[in-house]
Amino acid sequence: MTSKRAVLVLNSGSSSLKFQLVEPDSGVSLAIGNVERIGEAASSVANHDSALRRAFEMLTDDGIDLYNCGLVAVGHRIVHGGNDFHLPTLLDEAVIGELERLSALAPLHNPPAVRCIKVARALLPDVAHVAVFDTAFFRDLPPAAATYAIDRQLADTWGIRRYGFHGISHLYVSGQAAAFLHKPLVGLNQIVLHLGNGASASAIAGGRPVETSMGLTPLEGLVMGTRSGDVDPGVIGYLWRTAKLSVDEIERMLNHRSGVLGLAGERDFRRLHAMIEAGDSSAQLAYDVFIHRLRKYIGAYLAVLGHTDAVSFTAGIGEHDATVRRDALAGMTELGLELDEQRNTAPSNRARRISTDGSRITVLVVPTNEELAIARDCVSLL
Ligand code: ADP
Repeated sequence: MTSKRAVLVLNSGSSSLKFQLVEPDSGVSLAIGNVERIGEAASSVANHDSALRRAFEMLTDDGIDLYNCGLVAVGHRIVHGGNDFHLPTLLDEAVIGELERLSALAPLHNPPAVRCIKVARALLPDVAHVAVFDTAFFRDLPPAAATYAIDRQLADTWGIRRYGFHGISHLYVSGQAAAFLHKPLVGLNQIVLHLGNGASASAIAGGRPVETSMGLTPLEGLVMGTRSGDVDPGVIGYLWRTAKLSVDEIERMLNHRSGVLGLAGERDFRRLHAMIEAGDSSAQLAYDVFIHRLRKYIGAYLAVLGHTDAVSFTAGIGEHDATVRRDALAGMTELGLELDEQRNTAPSNRARRISTDGSRITVLVVPTNEELAIARDCVSLL
């Protein structure tokens, strides 16, 4: 028996289930894993029920006894909290019912999470199950940033606004950046660039988000691994009318067969770089489009903030890809951003400064840790 507390964090996507067992007090990760290719034809994992059972088997194989490891809560990352859910929320039948109703806003993201909650509650009935929402941090976006300029009544009726996502990461990273700089969060204006398979940017003034790149859904904004980011909404009607694609087909295309994958046939940045080196012109174009969009957003957020103290890179690409960081900020010295090439390329897994001492704005790499943030949210509720 141990007196240490542990939280199992579950993050279910449409075809994957990531899990991590975390000690919220020490920040130590006890076990981590990922069940992939859920529901795919050639996969042994038919659905989220079997995925969760598989995750539990993997934990057992790692020597973890979930029933005797100090487990106090299961934290479920929920992509879309809509207008009603902001705070970490204890899951009961009523809340689960409301989350199911929210699935209309996030048909690709919320249903697998709800499925996962039900199975997890059945398998671990004696601990608290807590929902933590990826939209929560952005609930207070200023109206000018949260509002789409479309028919007001229609927007109000159907809850159409810019919700923003990756909030768990943007909040965590902005806090870590402030800690690294030994400055209070309220005294800093920051830009956070979360660049993973999903990618988003945020502008945070004194700890409060004032702009973010994702909108009603996590499709808006930056170019991503498989998502288009910004496109003219006219593309959808045009494809529907002219190519005779259904709305579902168009949404699937924009979410799963677009972005870097759609342009280069590859979504992983490590392989993308290898393709570029081998002279693949599609890979080069995909990379150029990705960088161009990112630079546009950085410029826009510098303007939104007026004064910026820090820019932080995070998530798989942001933390590990020095070439992306260099190209994202190249030629921005006059805007106050100057990278130190040696600092930028020095290998490290810790928060670090990568700008020159003379750079007016400090550029950081800050590892994100959404699982730890979720685990801490869970115990704060208990
Ligand atoms: P997710 O949104 O699925 O959590 P991640 O944050 O893990 O995604 O980011 C995945 C992306 O990060 C991939 O494109 C991958 O190539 C990139 N990446 C991860 N590690 C490295 C690395 N060491 N060098 C370059 N890119 C990396």
